[in-house]
Amino acid sequence: MSGQFDLIVVGAGPAGSSCAERAAKLGLRVVVFEKEVFPRSKPCAGGLTSRVLRLLDSSIDGIIHHNIRTSEFLVGPRVTVTWTGRDTTIATTTRKELDQYLAERAISAGARVEFGVAVDSAIDLGAHVEVTAGSRSLSAPYLVAADGVRGCLKGMVGIPSLRLSGAAYARVFPNTFSDLEPFLDRAIIDAGVRRGGYGWIFPKRDHLNVGVCGGAALGPDYIRDVDRFIEQRGLGSWRVEGHFARPTPAAVGSASLAKRRVLVVGDAAGLADPITGEGISHSIASGRLAAESIRQALNGGDDASTIYRGRAVAEILPVISHSIRLGRFLHALGPGPLSAGLRIPGMAAFLESWMPRLGHASEGGRLTIDASGRGRRTAHSERA
Ligand SMILES: Cc1cc2nc3c(=O)[nH]c(=O)nc-3n(C[C@H](O)[C@H](O)[C@H](O)COP(=O)(O)OP(=O)(O)OC[C@H]3O[C@@H](n4cnc5c(N)ncnc54)[C@H](O)[C@@H]3O)c2cc1C
Repeated sequence: MSGQFDLIVVGAGPAGSSCAERAAKLGLRVVVFEKEVFPRSKPCAGGLTSRVLRLLDSSIDGIIHHNIRTSEFLVGPRVTVTWTGRDTTIATTTRKELDQYLAERAISAGARVEFGVAVDSAIDLGAHVEVTAGSRSLSAPYLVAADGVRGCLKGMVGIPSLRLSGAAYARVFPNTFSDLEPFLDRAIIDAGVRRGGYGWIFPKRDHLNVGVCGGAALGPDYIRDVDRFIEQRGLGSWRVEGHFARPTPAAVGSASLAKRRVLVVGDAAGLADPITGEGISHSIASGRLAAESIRQALNGGDDASTIYRGRAVAEILPVISHSIRLGRFLHALGPGPLSAGLRIPGMAAFLESWMPRLGHASEGGRLTIDASGRGRRTAHSERA
């Protein structure tokens, strides 16, 4: 199969499929190897931030469970900050549906996607890359490693491995649909659930995705925190399916982005936000950047890894670094001083004007701060 492809992509998650779609649209001959057979589920909360929605077009509407405009942030025992955007701030789906949808986009664009085929080895020979996939050997000028947070490709070509933290969740099913209804219009983020991280509740079609992320390496404490969160929210009598847990990148830097003819994208490159856990938007963006960098290199530009590293450092890393700085500041403040700060008169108006700068909210949204403790009560007792 030598000479048949310009580019081999390993992994058909959001990063790999987005890379393949963009590469095919740019006229590159691309093959994707994906070890799983789709549709398959993947541990994820399936929250698509407005950044993801901006990257994709309206054809994604068919797989969206809920378009959510209201997010509730619970800070300390009494304070709830509620943001209601003019547009969707987060849409929910499942990774089974999202990854299938993105792979189909890549195939429609002209990429060849082979499911159920794992890439077992990769060698960068300087002028091209050789891989073995199943029982076949093939080579191409470029390899894109989109094999996720646990991916082995980087190690095979001498790119440093990542420092990891984690996230875990359960699917929580109501006894009747009416129990679910009060949760359908909002995402709940609770900063008090986990030190150095947070808990989330995202509504899906027939259940809630209830999870926690961040802080430390994955361990049994994550599962305990999920269970505690379910109890605290008054969901203890609902049917719990799970738990599901997986590492997430804990830090980001340019060292894991590329080496010679291998470009690393998405979680494999550590391109997820270590504070919010958001990784889908950066996976899509980095996959597309890798494809564009390879196209430019094959047109006679600089080498693809230099172009890709330069663009990722300029376009993706600053977004993540900004969030890390903000997250560290808020965690360092702690819930007490943070709650006190939120009670300062005029704070709601100040934050309302500032929200769009976070990149997840458009102008014209409404922010309220409730310091009566009612938000927390309604979240788990009155509402449920
Ligand atoms: C519990 C949890 C909740 C999360 N919730 C959210 C959320 O709500 N919103 C959000 O934006 N982000 C979320 N994230 C992060 C998000 O899931 C990741 O950032 C995203 O999946 C990264 O996409 P990717 O394409 O880089 O990797 P992946 O989605 O991991 O895809 C990698 C693919 O490569 C394949 N593969 C691996 N090795 C090989 C091989 N050798 N050969 C062939 N194929 C291979 C795998 O089968 C897989 O399909 C969450 C993460 C976790 C753990």
